[in-house]
Amino acid sequence: MSSPLDDLPDAPSERAAALRNLLRQYNREYYELDAPTVPDSTYDELARELRSIEDTYPELGSDDSPTRQVGAAPSSLFAEITHRVPMMSLDNAMDSTELAEWGQRTRRRLASLDLEGDLRYVCELKIDGLALSIRYEHGRFVQAATRGNGRVGEDVTANIATLGDVPKQLPPGAPDVLEARGEVYMPIESFDALNAAQEAAGKPRYANPRNTAAGSLRQKDPAVTAGRGLRLWSYQVGEVVGGPRLDSHSASLDLLRSVGLPVNPNTTLLADLDEVYAFCAHWVDHRHDLPYEIDGIVVKVDRLALQEALGATSKAPRWAIAYKLPPEERTTRLLDIQVSVGRTGKVTPFAVLEPVVVAGSTVGLATLHNEDQVRLKDVRPGDVVIVRKAGDVIPEVVGPVPASRPEGLEPWTFPARCPCPLDSPLVRIEGEAQHRCLHPDCPYQRLARLTHFASRGAMDIDGLGEKQVAKFIELGLLSDVADVYSLDFEAILALPGYRQRSVENLRAAIEASKQRPLANLLFGLNIVHLGAAGAEVLARALGGMDAILASDVERLAGIDGIGPVIAASVHAFFADDANRALVERLREAGVNFEGPADSGVAQVLGGMSIVVTGTLDGYSREQAEAAIKQRGGKSPGSVSKKTTAVVAGPDAGGSKLAKATELAIPVLDEAAFERLLETGELP
Ligand code: NAD
Repeated sequence: MSSPLDDLPDAPSERAAALRNLLRQYNREYYELDAPTVPDSTYDELARELRSIEDTYPELGSDDSPTRQVGAAPSSLFAEITHRVPMMSLDNAMDSTELAEWGQRTRRRLASLDLEGDLRYVCELKIDGLALSIRYEHGRFVQAATRGNGRVGEDVTANIATLGDVPKQLPPGAPDVLEARGEVYMPIESFDALNAAQEAAGKPRYANPRNTAAGSLRQKDPAVTAGRGLRLWSYQVGEVVGGPRLDSHSASLDLLRSVGLPVNPNTTLLADLDEVYAFCAHWVDHRHDLPYEIDGIVVKVDRLALQEALGATSKAPRWAIAYKLPPEERTTRLLDIQVSVGRTGKVTPFAVLEPVVVAGSTVGLATLHNEDQVRLKDVRPGDVVIVRKAGDVIPEVVGPVPASRPEGLEPWTFPARCPCPLDSPLVRIEGEAQHRCLHPDCPYQRLARLTHFASRGAMDIDGLGEKQVAKFIELGLLSDVADVYSLDFEAILALPGYRQRSVENLRAAIEASKQRPLANLLFGLNIVHLGAAGAEVLARALGGMDAILASDVERLAGIDGIGPVIAASVHAFFADDANRALVERLREAGVNFEGPADSGVAQVLGGMSIVVTGTLDGYSREQAEAAIKQRGGKSPGSVSKKTTAVVAGPDAGGSKLAKATELAIPVLDEAAFERLLETGELP
């Protein structure tokens, strides 16, 4: 029900014609407008179906079918450039069976030509960007073109001249003519920064790095391209005149590298298909270790003589195949938009979806952030929507598939009242994107507040999760966070499902929580805008609850790391009589009110940013990061220019190390890490 296939006719010839029209429309949106309206997975599904009809009924095939053509016509925005060597597409393998089939076809074809010897494969990441041809004559950069329809592309020389990755002059000894092929892409960091700027300006977010890269490159004004942080990986040569004799693909990559063009460090020459499978399997698991997006692995026969013998179809070479990674964008039906009420009264809209498997997990719900985001995305209950889930990132609704919108679908409006039984009005405070429920007795808030109080980052009370909290509230055993310390354990013991042992465990966990650091308590109190980091700063700066209670707004706002908004919110919280009373009840219960005792650990890593990757013998990832933070350092999850050093276990993934090498950041083994922890000195 959620695919454009639903409305297509059944008879093969009509269905093929309808599929062709649909694919042509999608090609135009994707290649010419850089604004696809369906995810690649839907496009691929339709293209496969068309190919299968054309294979079953050869009389229905035609040369102008999208299954036989590359890309789309160049846009009139740019001058045309005719490629001297065509720029082709790639055939796809969706799984290891299809990869094996390609391997067998290749071997058979070569065997029939008596050419089987020395069949090795170069495996490369399939970078999710757009293909580019860059031409050098006598060592000088003279021209850059998009792929277009494979024969004629668009002249984007001025735009590509703005990319730092593209050398303008090659070193002496470079071939007289060198045409490098590569992929222009947008690193995830640049994409996120661009979207943060869009959001700040109240503009819609860009959908994904690939289309944003294409849109950023194909700009009339090269200054726009220059500001978008585009990068390049080169992976092939086109026309070459002069220079060293090339007899393998790997030798041509060496040539590209030697003249200063960036070649992806994960490119690997492999001896057989077993190694190729292992390479693909590795990247299925590690694609998100990379600072850019990939959508597959490209496998290429290494020897150029074999490539030549294998030749090409009208669309793609036979000597290469793209092993596609599982899609991260799928379409599904948006069943409803509902709102949830958080612990501070924040009301967040979320999408209720017909469950769909995206990137290996089933997605049924996805946040829609706030009213403005729903409006900007213009998603309406009843729409077919694109859902995106990349790695650990929470699932996101990218937008609707406009062509699939049923007639008469009304835009969604934010509810005026809280969905809880109190039915209180929701307000959107000026300057905030969020709606809030301000009713202090809102049962949804109460549940969220109590659950948060008992959660990991706060008082960490085992056995007091959301389900138990809900039950205890229902039975009148809990109403606010201080009640946790006067729970009626006799009453709990009488409840079905509770035994002496579990009640004792709960009692012990609650008792132990009294000793949590002050920062955990502050975080657990559900003060608007005060997150875990802010609570830590506050506890360290003032050293005790009483000092916090006695502080005025100026004192709070004067603390390094506490902004005026947090200061005002903290002050308002503790100025409230009911909250004061709550604090006094916590004090009476014996909850720790004192700030962190000086840990006694020298802050030797102050100002340093140390990234940990791979497995170390003596430390889990969390322990290594905690050891860094304890010494005043930071330990972010990704490598950037600000990184001081990277600590790498022997099994560390390629991307962080590659980035470290690229930025000349020192990489430390475990022994060097231990020295660093002790002395703060880099080797
Ligand atoms: P492709 O993207 O499957 O493969 C060919 C391209 O891979 C090359 O042109 C090059 O740009 C790229 N590539 C990246 N790394 C490479 C490497 N190391 N070596 C060689 N090439 C590398 O094929 P295509 O013809 O460019 O595009 C077809 C695909 O585009 C479809 O399968 C679909 O996923 C997507 N598409 C989507 C829509 C849509 O509406 N969503 C429309 C058209 C196409």
